[in-house]
Amino acid sequence: MRILVVDDDPLTLEVLSARLEGWGHQVVTSQDSEAAWARLEGGASPHMAILDWMLPGMSGLDLCRKVRERSGPYMYILLLTGRTGREDVLEGFEAGADDYLTKPIDWGELEARLRAGERIVNLQNELIDAREALRTQAMQDPMTKVLNHGAIMEALDREVDRAHRENHPLALILCDLDRFKRVNDRYGHVVGDKVLREVTRRLRNCLRSYDALGRYGGEEFLMVLPNIDHDNAAKLAERIRVAVSTEPFRVDSLEIQVSLSQGLITWTVPTGIPAERLIQAADRALYAAKDAGRNRVRCVRFDPGDSDSVEECPSPSSGSDQDRSG
Ligand code: GH3
Ligand code: MG
Ligand code: MG
Repeated sequence: MRILVVDDDPLTLEVLSARLEGWGHQVVTSQDSEAAWARLEGGASPHMAILDWMLPGMSGLDLCRKVRERSGPYMYILLLTGRTGREDVLEGFEAGADDYLTKPIDWGELEARLRAGERIVNLQNELIDAREALRTQAMQDPMTKVLNHGAIMEALDREVDRAHRENHPLALILCDLDRFKRVNDRYGHVVGDKVLREVTRRLRNCLRSYDALGRYGGEEFLMVLPNIDHDNAAKLAERIRVAVSTEPFRVDSLEIQVSLSQGLITWTVPTGIPAERLIQAADRALYAAKDAGRNRVRCVRFDPGDSDSVEECPSPSSGSDQDRSG
């Protein structure tokens, strides 16, 4: 464990650290609580702290209270005290200490109490991991591991707000695999699922780390792209089209040709356009791409004064509406 030891007596600090290190712990020491607090504020995250009760300036008890007021990972606190009065012990627990030990230190007792503390720290970490896993699970599409419908819609709301606030452009792409029913009909759903997973991998590879990708519905995906202008968004959509349609998908010993149609929405001067209207426009553009023969991009550009009509994207799109399912 990483253990912070705060004691104003240099000799105690030295002896205590030597013992703790001997037991395999990493030790950070401090002679006063202000310095210890500054270190914690600076992002140090020991699993445990052994604090002397009596310290010049801020006492160990005060430091303990301050630690409990902050958020962040739980730190197990053991108070070191020369006092044995019942009142004092209660005050220590009230300040947020987990345990206490009286001076002079009984090393056997300290070792046993550290083990008890370590169990709590481990349980605490398991709880944090479990909570994190639940959070991920609640946001993730189980099959493709990209954001699920709810989570991508939240990302869209968030980015629409941010674009408005920070005056950034924003783009979204709603895409739908072409004639995907034929892939299922021909090769079965298991193969279809593998294709979907590979599609999300290829989409992800085209995006920047702060772009959001989510499964909007069955074989439809939504990408939320902050801070990108119209021309770059159009180029990105073309790269996505090429990334999916050029290289056949190899599943087991099969080679399957897949393409997708995209509705691109760009929004160069952010005004408060509701997410719902953006999605409707993306849907219109997507269906225009399907109508025009699939494997292509159509866009709607929200500009001041412009009507939001569907346009062909400047980047050339090749491909035609044919059976690409094998
Ligand atoms: P279009 O080009 O008009 O979009 O044709 P399409 O066949 O892709 O469209 P349609 O809406 O008729 O069919 C969608 C297909 O996507 C049918 C459905 O089985 C398939 N699909 C949706 N979700 C999944 C999935 O999770 N796994 C698999 N394997 N297929 C899926
Ligand atoms: Mg489809
Ligand atoms: Mg569809």
